[in-house]
Amino acid sequence: MITTDHAIAAYLGLAIGDALGATVEFMTPREIAVKYGTHDTLCGGGWLHLKLGQVTDDTTMSLALGNAILTQGKVDALSSAQAFDGWMRAKPIDIGNTVRRNLLQFRKTGNPESPYSDHDAGNGAAMRVLPVALATLDQSEDAVRAACRAQAHVTHHSTLSDAACECLVFMVQDALRGVNKNQLLHQYAHPLAVRYPVFKFRAVRQNSNPSGYVVDTLQAVFQSFFDTDNFSSCLIDVVNRGGDADTTGAIAGMLAGALYGLEEIPEAWLNKLDARTSLACTVQARALIKLASQPNCQNRLRTTSPLTTA
Ligand code: MN
Ligand code: MN
Repeated sequence: MITTDHAIAAYLGLAIGDALGATVEFMTPREIAVKYGTHDTLCGGGWLHLKLGQVTDDTTMSLALGNAILTQGKVDALSSAQAFDGWMRAKPIDIGNTVRRNLLQFRKTGNPESPYSDHDAGNGAAMRVLPVALATLDQSEDAVRAACRAQAHVTHHSTLSDAACECLVFMVQDALRGVNKNQLLHQYAHPLAVRYPVFKFRAVRQNSNPSGYVVDTLQAVFQSFFDTDNFSSCLIDVVNRGGDADTTGAIAGMLAGALYGLEEIPEAWLNKLDARTSLACTVQARALIKLASQPNCQNRLRTTSPLTTA
């Protein structure tokens, strides 16, 4: 079935883009060119001194969120916050400043929604949207938007982050339904830039050395995604821009995986990706698609747990 195959590809794409980009994170395109020529192999290293095929917070936060969704049978703010808090307690190799600050706040207040701030428009919520896209595949547009915000606002409560998260989720979902790249461009990417001109990615300069600002991130991702026509060119193009390369790689890998499917992912990358990560992504993608296809799963879970509610 196209959906499950492409959902697995989206998850593996996220992890591969993360691992590939992490090697050159915070380097400029020029520094990358001097050191690697074109960076196109999973080789670990980078400022985090990663092992071969190791991923970073982009993938591990997605997996933590996906586990919470599967446990609850739905996307829920409090269980997302608890999952991220548990993830932070396990001392991840990297963590964004906004994520850390708002999770520490959650520990104090118990409120899973961080206060609104235009300054919290980093890419930290957008990089982990994939499990939401998979779990809400068959839900209404309003329900999908609500789910996006529930997970995102735990750490990033900002209009631009929300716009980016929702755009990415709808793009992934339509790609899984077999919608082509041109339709994704006209239905989602262009309208985002019309509504929020700051997201314009056409007729502007190539975004090289993208920062962690979600606008920079999406500009680089969209330029690479829409100007290439296969999985590996898309990822190679985006990570060689440097900057927040693990996150642009992760988001581009998610989109490209959802669009092109498993067959397009190079074996060399699949084989080098950390085996436990690869298994976790595959198992979780299948489980989330299964959850999405269960009608009224929220109600069903509520009525079948009398032991906990009695
Ligand atoms: Mn990272
Ligand atoms: Mn990053």
